[in-house]
Amino acid sequence: MSLELSKKAIQVKPSSTLAITAKAKEMKASGIDVIGFGAGEPDFNTPDNICEAACKAIKEGFTKYTPASGTNELKEAISNKFKKFNDLDYGINQIVVSNGGKHSLTNIFQAIINPGDEVIIPAPYWLTYPEIVKLVDGVPVIVETSKNTGFKLTPKQLSDAITPKTKALILNTPSNPTGMIYSRDELTEIAKIVVDNDIYVVADEMYENLTYNGLNHVSIASLGEDIYKHTITCSGLSKAFSMTGWRIGYTGSSVEIAKVMGSVQSHETSNPNSVAQKAALEALNGPWTDVDSMKEAFDRRRKLMFDRLSQMPYIEFIEPEGAFYYFVDFGDVIGKSLNGKTIDSTIDIGQILLEDYHIAVVPCPDFGFPTYIRFSYAISDEMINKGMDRLEKFLGDIN
Ligand code: PLP
Repeated sequence: MSLELSKKAIQVKPSSTLAITAKAKEMKASGIDVIGFGAGEPDFNTPDNICEAACKAIKEGFTKYTPASGTNELKEAISNKFKKFNDLDYGINQIVVSNGGKHSLTNIFQAIINPGDEVIIPAPYWLTYPEIVKLVDGVPVIVETSKNTGFKLTPKQLSDAITPKTKALILNTPSNPTGMIYSRDELTEIAKIVVDNDIYVVADEMYENLTYNGLNHVSIASLGEDIYKHTITCSGLSKAFSMTGWRIGYTGSSVEIAKVMGSVQSHETSNPNSVAQKAALEALNGPWTDVDSMKEAFDRRRKLMFDRLSQMPYIEFIEPEGAFYYFVDFGDVIGKSLNGKTIDSTIDIGQILLEDYHIAVVPCPDFGFPTYIRFSYAISDEMINKGMDRLEKFLGDIN
């Protein structure tokens, strides 16, 4: 035997978003005033009623194992939320609660993928998708969308990408990183192709509460009995309730898939954190006033970013209608120079912005769009303005 590591594990790329956030935090800790447009998490504290429910759970000794796929009371609350918010009927035997949305997605692919199965991932994509698919011996099939279609997968693109090996399509709406939202009509067309070809759609609806311009989120599984059977819906509490650190995500699926995911989870992690489950219960059953006010703040910041970015040279973007990101094309900056040095890529830009202008952003090669940079606006208005001043200065300094 040798001490060689797993070939599959070592090919997994580390998460560049987490790495940038960590580097920005490190710079901040050393006294540098860094503005962080990198993090994919709300800047708000978790609402008080949720924290109090967690404290109560600890004091009352709710600190032991729970059923591996989550408590029935939490599944009941999730089932009610699915009904009320998504127009979806998932009974508690169809719900699996996991340690965050990322874990839910991992469970899904562990449950449905056999070696060599293809998973269609529209680009730009959240950087974790291809890595999870590869980890379960699936094959990511990247389909590049375009600015002209608002970065949405067209029915033709989907049909063309399907092969006899296709097992699933990942559909993320509202999208990280583009902030776009699929309409009911667009989803209806996609659903038809999914059903006709008998593949799964993995609907990642993590940002479902964050929609703007009067638009509503539509769950693809709600569009009919057939597509319901072909869909695994995934969501969580991280973004809407500002609970990223609590690690609670969940899925709604067929009973059969939920059983498989529950068994896998029972060996991999056992239950999601018991205290976080009580916190999630309060989040879902308690007042959603904080969710609404956080959404209002995001919308205000979205408009502020729009005004600021619209006035800058070289860059291009589409107004996002959901989530909390701007996806900005820096293609015209590549090839320009700063202080006599040529800028070769968005990785260069990210490095310059962090080190010389003290703003953290996410270059998007790992999201499948190398000339783009993602800006999260989950930071205060004041920070946004300060950061935008710095970006403007950078764009003014290049030639
Ligand atoms: N799906 C998308 C599109 C995301 O952006 C994220 C987190 O950034 C997740 C899922 C996972 O969320 P969680 O933090 O609950 O694992």
